[in-house]
Amino acid sequence: MPQTGLMMNRPLLISGILEHAAAQFGEQEIVSRETHGPLHRTTYAQAAQRARQLANALAQLGLKAGSAVGSIAWNNHRHLEAYYAVSGSGMVMHTCNPRLHPQQLIYVINHAEDEVVLFDATFAPLIKGIAAHCPQVRAWVCLADAANTPAIEGVSSVLNYEDLIHGHSAHFDWPDLDETSGAALCYTSGTTGNPKGVLYSHRAIVMNATTACLPDVLALSTQETVLPVVPMFHINAWCIPYAALLSGTKLVFPGPKLDGPSLYELMESEQVTISAGVPTIWMGLIQHVEQNNLRFATMKRTAVGGSAMPMALVAKFMDTYGVEVRHGWGMTETTAVATMSNLSRTDRQKPAAEQHAIVAKQGKTVSGIEIKVVDENGQTLPRDGSSQGELMVRGQWIVERYYKSDTSALVNGWFPTGDIATIDTQGTMQIRDRTKDVIKTGGEWISSIDLENAAIAHPAVAMAAVIGIKHPKWDERPLLFIVRKPGQSLEKADILEFLATKVAKWWVPDDVVFLESLPVGGTGKVQKNELRKTYGGVFS
Ligand code: ADP
Repeated sequence: MPQTGLMMNRPLLISGILEHAAAQFGEQEIVSRETHGPLHRTTYAQAAQRARQLANALAQLGLKAGSAVGSIAWNNHRHLEAYYAVSGSGMVMHTCNPRLHPQQLIYVINHAEDEVVLFDATFAPLIKGIAAHCPQVRAWVCLADAANTPAIEGVSSVLNYEDLIHGHSAHFDWPDLDETSGAALCYTSGTTGNPKGVLYSHRAIVMNATTACLPDVLALSTQETVLPVVPMFHINAWCIPYAALLSGTKLVFPGPKLDGPSLYELMESEQVTISAGVPTIWMGLIQHVEQNNLRFATMKRTAVGGSAMPMALVAKFMDTYGVEVRHGWGMTETTAVATMSNLSRTDRQKPAAEQHAIVAKQGKTVSGIEIKVVDENGQTLPRDGSSQGELMVRGQWIVERYYKSDTSALVNGWFPTGDIATIDTQGTMQIRDRTKDVIKTGGEWISSIDLENAAIAHPAVAMAAVIGIKHPKWDERPLLFIVRKPGQSLEKADILEFLATKVAKWWVPDDVVFLESLPVGGTGKVQKNELRKTYGGVFS
């Protein structure tokens, strides 16, 4: 019979991170782009004080442990304070994706039973449209002062954040919660059916945030300055708002300004060393940097995930700009990062192209996570780098069941991700596609990700996407969408010839559609379902 260890059983709590940050790194800076434009500067100590004031204010509004508070907001310092005040007091911080369809927003706010919703002024028109359909929301709190809070016609319960917390004590006794209590709630984007809620526990978040700080993950520390571009409404901004405070890292928030020029300016002026976001954001940034012949003075590392990072972009960051790329994989159901690509000491001796290929894979599991790939009968496939199957994941911060669901989401203790992947002998995982995006042709599979990566390597291509189109003979065939770089000429024959040198002949798309832009969703991913709606006919 194993003995019980004789150590204290102190819970892993989000309030613990805040108080640690305030006590150990009180002077550390938080720089935040206000929704109305200017930069705002504060410190960890001040943010902690204001989080405690907010906790008191929410209690006075009648919210209790277990209540839910929604947010429809950018990455900014008030949103950060709310992250801690809400979860720290035992309530649930429900971050809403503002680009959900309004009907879905209403659905998630009601499903989560949000009693207060925090919002940025940008989203006032949205609030106007949905407020009447969210009867249990007793206050809509604009994350601003009185001067920057718009009146919303027809919504009487609009407060502003500064007045709400004003006069409240900066002392708050954070409850000693059970570490398994719900702390934050995030809904999947619901491309099929209603969005599903994932209720993260304090334990899951603290463990993930601790792992995120490790040198081979994000490598956060007091020496670094991190700019999370990944939204705080998208999987807790990959837990960076927690990891930064845990490690004492200077935080820079971009607010609503996510375009290339604004991000570049902020990175340079605040001497950002680490950033994180989806590939589409980095494409915008690199375009700006290239067109204006700029360099990064302090940026040394960028974490990328959410969709596959094309190898051509990896190469550009690493070789042209000397910025290391860490490519991670995760999903709403995995709290944040689950795997991350990394170059080992021996990898770093390899030719540049081989290094890019390693980084373009989604990498190895971080400690706490296990993965496997299975065939359609659930049999585990070999780790040989070529056997493709559904990726299954389990670990200390993986969902067990969706919010308010009676049934487990697991299959024999593993979460089925809906991604198709390979794992090699070294444990390196590569996402080949999502089960719904893979193109099934003549009994074989074409990876839309691999085709997109090949297309984007063409110098005239800014963005590429591939979908499968029904075909009478082959079941499905690939259709390629291209956004040209500004001022570049590129025709169908050029790109198809180029692809013929990069991929197997039967992979070469049957047709190419040139677009001005691709439909991009709230989390920065190309919305292939939109492309399917418009172009998903039948090839003859
Ligand atoms: P959704 O994309 O449906 O909004 P999530 O934001 O939870 O949902 O995204 C999770 C999905 O994003 C994963 O299942 C996977 O398909 C994709 N994904 C995440 N990171 C990567 C990556 N590095 N490479 C390829 N695909 C990725």
